[in-house]
Amino acid sequence: MSGTSILHHHLLLFTPPEDQPKTKIKTPEADLRLKEQECLCLLKRCNNLKDFKQVHVQVLKWGLFSNPYCASNLLAACALSNWGSMDYACSIFNQIDEPGAFVFNTLIRGFVKDDKFKEAWLLYIEMLESEVQPDNFTYPALLKACAVLQTLEEGMQIHGHANKLGFQSDLFVQNALINMYGKCKEIELSYAIFEQMDEKSVASWSATIAANASVGLWYECLMLFGDMMNEGCWRPEESTLVSVISACAHMGCLDLGRCTHGSLIRNISELNVTVQTSLMDMYVKCGRLEKGLCLFQMMAEKNQSSYSVMISGLAMHGQGEQALRVFSEMLEDGVEPDDVIYVSVLSACSHAGLVDEGLQCFDRMRLEHGITPTVQHYGCLVDLLGRAGMLQKALELIKSMAVEPNDVVWRSLLSACKVHQNLEIGEIAANSLFQLNSENPGDYIILSNMYAQAQRWDDAAKTRMEMTSKGLKQTPGFSLVVVSRKVHRFVSEDKTHHKCHNSILEMIHQMEWQLRFEGYSPDTSQVLVDVDEQEKRERLKGHSQKLAIAFALINTSQGSPIRITRNIRMCSDCHTYTKFISAIYEREILVRDRKRFHHFKDGTCSCQDYW
Ligand code: ZN
Ligand code: ZN
Repeated sequence: MSGTSILHHHLLLFTPPEDQPKTKIKTPEADLRLKEQECLCLLKRCNNLKDFKQVHVQVLKWGLFSNPYCASNLLAACALSNWGSMDYACSIFNQIDEPGAFVFNTLIRGFVKDDKFKEAWLLYIEMLESEVQPDNFTYPALLKACAVLQTLEEGMQIHGHANKLGFQSDLFVQNALINMYGKCKEIELSYAIFEQMDEKSVASWSATIAANASVGLWYECLMLFGDMMNEGCWRPEESTLVSVISACAHMGCLDLGRCTHGSLIRNISELNVTVQTSLMDMYVKCGRLEKGLCLFQMMAEKNQSSYSVMISGLAMHGQGEQALRVFSEMLEDGVEPDDVIYVSVLSACSHAGLVDEGLQCFDRMRLEHGITPTVQHYGCLVDLLGRAGMLQKALELIKSMAVEPNDVVWRSLLSACKVHQNLEIGEIAANSLFQLNSENPGDYIILSNMYAQAQRWDDAAKTRMEMTSKGLKQTPGFSLVVVSRKVHRFVSEDKTHHKCHNSILEMIHQMEWQLRFEGYSPDTSQVLVDVDEQEKRERLKGHSQKLAIAFALINTSQGSPIRITRNIRMCSDCHTYTKFISAIYEREILVRDRKRFHHFKDGTCSCQDYW
């Protein structure tokens, strides 16, 4: 039934029929109230502007416009419905004598809904000028606009006004402030509001958790979620559960992720495509590729982002051919690929050594889908050629690029040169990196080691000296490991990890004996500080990944897999060490860094020593 016919139907129903027997005598007041109700009923049924205009005419005819209640409802319907028109709403607003706070708030919300922040702000000023006192609904609307547009300055100004008028401890205003500061990435300000609150609602927790998630403070996200549960907020919003799932994905917390999945299934009848996609992402990033694939295959509806997550997941796990299959399935489904998906597709090809396929995809991206290659796409291609040992070709590609090569591109080439022992091109790549001032100590180490391998000791020493003279140090690495549903965080050379530290050191010591017996020797070239050999060995032992493995070996049952999440790429000593440990202790060890997975098993790694 179309909107018009519903309306006519009701007009017929409600227009006082003239030929009705006049048994009941209506007082004018009762009549007015009846018309008022009719008018509200008609407004509720409106679903397009044309019908709305007819109701407006009716309201005027019945003389109901002077009734503030009717007038403001009329305005709200026009300003806030998705079929509404702000121009028309403004014309209604102009006809209202002495509009009150509700009327102003309604129009402000309407502007905010349409992303017209300037108009909302001007109206707010008009409100102040006409001496209408803003209330606790005025500020949330304005703050929401600042959140959407990420305009911090205006947001802070509004915060100031709200404080001045005494709304600093109003729950709605506080929740809106947390959200606004969070969206503007001002986490500390956002958190300060949250901390000050006497009473926290589910929305307060949600806004704070979302704020932390938006800037990637995943650890904090999970801590807050735990606090929320402890404080008895048992019914988190769907969006909060999605933030928690993303946090689990990033932190490698499979158990908590699974629990959250469970509570989603229990509380929400049908998971939408966004939630399903984030669950899939969580399983894939926690090393459960099979489970992720299973969810993916069961999805009734897949969008661009579901395909993107699956393809990049397969790429991270080195499953290039399957990633390509999902990609063609996506094209068959009529989902248009974007530049992000192509980055995943190309990196999948490079992790799996699919040179021809990768080059074909690159052409297809440009020619068929009209996507201009970015430096990331070129980076993948350089990586692809580099891994396959086509170093000269990779270098030519960099020189022919339409965009300026960045450090990532040159670093891919440098790593490839290290693996394929090509010092000549390696020097070109390293020097280009040094010119870019990317200040990554790892680049110097690689070049210096390549010189050492070629027995060019002077050059090796000179490169090291250059690095030290620039004062370059490695970023402190950390590793996370989940043991009995808690995330444990280890920082390199961490001497603070609660009471267990002594037992970890003992374990490390014990592991070392076993490792030596099996033929492992520490690669001290990975230590960048100028200390003696003994000290270098000590420092290597304290790398966060080793601490995390020792901790997990002590605290988990024999044979259970160990999952570690790192902030930076592991050093090659930790890689060798972990391979040995996987064989000696018969454990599968999954290590994820920002870019990819290393799956250690029986003394080998899934990356085949190239990462
Ligand atoms: Zn290491
Ligand atoms: Zn590996």
